[in-house]
Amino acid sequence: MDNNFKIYNSLTRKIEPIIPHEDGKIGMYTCGPTVYHFAHIGNLRSYIMEDVLEKSLRYVGYDVKRVMNITDVGHLSSDADTGEDKMLKGAQREHKTVMEVAKFYTDAFFADCEALNIKRPDVVEPATNCIDEFIHMVEGLLEKGYAYLAGGNVYFDTSKLDKYFVFSSQEELENLVGVRDDVEEDTNKKNKNDFVLWFTKSKFEDQALKWESPWGVGYPGWHIECSCIGIKHLGEYMDIHCGGVDNMFPHHTNEIAQSESFLGHKWCPYWMHVQHLNDKQGKMSKSKGDFLTVSLLKEKGYNPLVYRMFCLQSHYRKPLEFSYEILDNTAAAYNKLVKRITGLKEDGAVEQNIYDEFNGKFIDAISNDMNTSMAITVLYDLLKADTNDATKLALIKEFDKVLSLGLTDVKEEKAEVDAELEAYVLAKIEERKEAKKAKDFATADAIRDELLSKGIVIKDTREGVVWHLEG
Ligand code: AMP
Ligand code: ZN
Repeated sequence: MDNNFKIYNSLTRKIEPIIPHEDGKIGMYTCGPTVYHFAHIGNLRSYIMEDVLEKSLRYVGYDVKRVMNITDVGHLSSDADTGEDKMLKGAQREHKTVMEVAKFYTDAFFADCEALNIKRPDVVEPATNCIDEFIHMVEGLLEKGYAYLAGGNVYFDTSKLDKYFVFSSQEELENLVGVRDDVEEDTNKKNKNDFVLWFTKSKFEDQALKWESPWGVGYPGWHIECSCIGIKHLGEYMDIHCGGVDNMFPHHTNEIAQSESFLGHKWCPYWMHVQHLNDKQGKMSKSKGDFLTVSLLKEKGYNPLVYRMFCLQSHYRKPLEFSYEILDNTAAAYNKLVKRITGLKEDGAVEQNIYDEFNGKFIDAISNDMNTSMAITVLYDLLKADTNDATKLALIKEFDKVLSLGLTDVKEEKAEVDAELEAYVLAKIEERKEAKKAKDFATADAIRDELLSKGIVIKDTREGVVWHLEG
């Protein structure tokens, strides 16, 4: 396979062609949501761009297997393993059990994804399904001398590694991902950056979900879940691992440390990180409580796909600031675009040379570190191009496999037309009823004929007047 697909790799800090470990196939892993609250549109920026990556890889011919975890245990309020479990906090806030909260927000997450045309990954695995696998990996790390027991918890010993900060220096990472949560000193740790693999002792005694383990009743750390779930479904080698830029440290740094120590070899060569969506106050975050969701955008009258287009118009490696003003401009552009495409007619044969030219430009854009705004420019250029509608439509259908903006999916438009048609027919039926009541049969017949001339057949039945379209 021709490996022209290039992406910025956070590990090497270079834009590189992707060379998968098995020709033509890509194993892709995405850190899934922590399901203690709704996803905010910042989280969804990451998932939209990861969806574009998956679809772009498929577009250029790769057979992609994508795996995502659902974090329903182990993610503490500080990413550095201190504080309460976020799930427990969610359950307390809503007076529900942890599993009820997990189910509710997992369903809400996938409903948001559907509204944004984000494809469901091939494998979705909740962390609470994999406790045996976590225990197995922690045992392996202890056996190999990469972990130690202290104060009832099992920790990863970062001093055993030649290089722990694989992405960049600690200082650079902390600047890049923003201020870290307040890190409380954990006196059990031998080294500052050691992290918990398995907890049996927590300051918060009421941790809801606990399991038997060789080290006592407890629960897994957050980082171990992605290593285990990735290896469980993609094997010892995966090709691309994705997440938001805040996941780089400590989460991804720790995933690499424990996976490579456990496996005894390199694990994942390409790391893709999506920059944050910010609001005027800074990074949008779930723990701040007051955040923007897809439902809120819908309530305000926005089609969620307008938000998808808003994200596609910027590069995924640049921070993006949300504003309603820009969203309004995007909505206007989106509606105009869809209207223009709806007006295209199947008017003959596709002009193959034009098709190939534009398809080539589109592939160049998405293969060049996912230049989505360029891909949209190619779409606008196509609409202006000197070719027939059939060629334009054929290409737009293809482009939309990646953009997923619902550009040729006229279902919604049709539903609107149907509703309009129905309102019109019902009004005419009512008018005819009134005419009949007034014994004005000429008008009643004229209304029936008028409808018939538009292909609408009405019938008087015992249950009232029914109608259907002719043919
Ligand atoms: P969480 O549910 O908090 O585990 O986060 C889910 C995903 O959203 C992770 O990949 C995060 O890195 C990402 N993320 C969190 N905040 C933002 C943000 N403001 N902008 C973009 N991505 C984010
Ligand atoms: Zn993860």
